[in-house]
Amino acid sequence: MSTLIGRQAVVVGAGMAGLPAARALADYFEHVVVLERDTLPLDTSHRAGTPQARHTHGLLGGGQRALSDLFPSFEQDLAAAGAVPVKVGLDLRLEMPGFDPFPRRDLGVVAYAMSRPLIEFTARQRLNGHANITIRENCRAQDVVMSPDGGAVSAIRFENHDGRSETLPADLVVEASGRGNLTLGFLESTGQPPPEETVIGVDIGYATAVLTIPGGVPGGWTAVMTFDTPARGGLAGIMLPLERNRWIVTVVGRHGDKPPGDWGGFLAYAQQLRTPTIYQAIKGAGQLGEIARFGFPASVCRHFDRLEEFPRGLLPLGDAICRFNPVHGQGMSVSAQEACLLRELLRRRAEETDPLDGLASAFFAEAARLIETPWALAAIPDYAVPETEGQRPEDLEQRLAFSEALFQLAAKDAAVHKLLVEVLHLLKPQSVLNDPDLVERVNALAAQT
Ligand SMILES: Cc1cc2nc3c(=O)[nH]c(=O)nc-3n(C[C@H](O)[C@H](O)[C@H](O)COP(=O)(O)OP(=O)(O)OC[C@H]3O[C@@H](n4cnc5c(N)ncnc54)[C@H](O)[C@@H]3O)c2cc1C
Repeated sequence: MSTLIGRQAVVVGAGMAGLPAARALADYFEHVVVLERDTLPLDTSHRAGTPQARHTHGLLGGGQRALSDLFPSFEQDLAAAGAVPVKVGLDLRLEMPGFDPFPRRDLGVVAYAMSRPLIEFTARQRLNGHANITIRENCRAQDVVMSPDGGAVSAIRFENHDGRSETLPADLVVEASGRGNLTLGFLESTGQPPPEETVIGVDIGYATAVLTIPGGVPGGWTAVMTFDTPARGGLAGIMLPLERNRWIVTVVGRHGDKPPGDWGGFLAYAQQLRTPTIYQAIKGAGQLGEIARFGFPASVCRHFDRLEEFPRGLLPLGDAICRFNPVHGQGMSVSAQEACLLRELLRRRAEETDPLDGLASAFFAEAARLIETPWALAAIPDYAVPETEGQRPEDLEQRLAFSEALFQLAAKDAAVHKLLVEVLHLLKPQSVLNDPDLVERVNALAAQT
């Protein structure tokens, strides 16, 4: 049983942070309103507000688990909608220097492959089952409104579907707009300092094609990930199955070497990957639609947890807090984990006299711990690329050598392989890799190379 702690919560953005957040809030507020600037499709079509959705969107095991916590049987819903189960380690051909492919094993981790619009559509359908959640489309949030006594955020102003300005009272506004502009604008307008940011200039270019490939991937694999050397940026090509017998193929470049947007150029780019697997699979493919491109200049983490004060009644979530380098496939999963964290905090505070007092600070502190693993998993390999801009840790060489040796050990030892995959899928924190026996074995291997 839950206890209501407020009359109305408003979520800005019906993306992969906003939808799980709305579900988390629904147990603790009489009404939850989601404001979304787009018209939301009644199927799995694309929409303007999430241009990244045209690109490969892997949902990690940790994200699947978080979404299933919020929406019980979510994985079954995905499967029923056509998502393809991929046994990580067994069905996914992982190609990295020295391992083409990485040893094939069933690690007991099943990830579903599907388009990003299918994940969103499935989550939206689940929200429709909650009588106290309303999604208002074509509503663009403009700014958050302070209570007359200046003590808290009390409402949100937005432009509605008729183009008129409306104000909606809110005990809590969750900003899941992907950008954080409302939060930053509000801090500025009230004279409060912005959060410090850690920025890693990765300058990545994506090109993605959706294809029909009658033969699929040779060798009975369901999916392929091809990595280049760490100094050349790691992940260079990924190929996943999609619902409705389609495939999605993304090639990734950095700095002066970005993949082009025409089919001939895309194929030529795929042909230059370190291994021929993806090119061989797609060279006779049928193209469905245009090739989509996306430029991602930098990963940005905003340290809201370091602020001494934060307005009551306001909470940024998802990409508004941290935008991860997309090649590591973490953003949706971390957003869903943050929504679970929010629900847990509301549960713990529901019996208090003033549950919203200090909610943001408590959330930021725990979210910072949650973000630590995915941020480190992405940042350390990014720093191996000489052109990457940012503050490298002093022990970078040591960490890169450890990571390389860890993969070598994982190739030999199934238990280490499983542990590594669980960390990469955000099912376990990176700290499990600090186990003294494991560290000793990894360091022994590192010393030999
Ligand atoms: C190229 C690329 C590939 C990626 N690949 C992966 C991947 O493989 N796996 C993964 O987990 N993550 C991936 N991500 C990250 C992922 O897309 C995000 O982390 C995730 O969508 C969570 O973001 P969000 O909900 O905060 O923002 P979004 O999902 O972008 O949603 C923001 C929503 O807010 C709406 N909005 C914005 N402003 C307003 C406003 N003023 N009023 C009302 N509505 C508003 C937008 O229309 C949108 O619907 C990728 C990102 C990129 C750029």
